[in-house]
Amino acid sequence: MLVKGSQKAKDTELTVRFTQWYCAHHHRDVARTELVSGGVEAGIYGKKAPILCADCARYANYAERRTETCRFDPKPFCSTCTAKCYKPEMTEYARKVMRYSGPRSLRSRFALRALQHILASRRHKGTD
Ligand SMILES: [Zn+2]
Repeated sequence: MLVKGSQKAKDTELTVRFTQWYCAHHHRDVARTELVSGGVEAGIYGKKAPILCADCARYANYAERRTETCRFDPKPFCSTCTAKCYKPEMTEYARKVMRYSGPRSLRSRFALRALQHILASRRHKGTD
């Protein structure tokens, strides 16, 4: 179970809010409903559950579970992590979501966290 307010919960919220933006833009013609997940039950998204299509909801649930069971503490950003615990299909999904929502996030309340993410990824690429 993700604990509301924890770093893992915040990271998960960021990932899933990114997914929601991506979904709202790319899956406009698909039926989209409130996400049903452990994270929603734990209240990590606040009062508004993310609205997602079935594919994005599947990805969100997967991302929640991966973060929940991450063996690192503190959890690194997934893009810089050496464990690569996502299956290829979901890594690809994460890339698509980040490509769309990353730049957008700099104009949102997630800006600081997103910026940390970008800087950490750069640093990682520089030393690897
Ligand atoms: Zn979608």
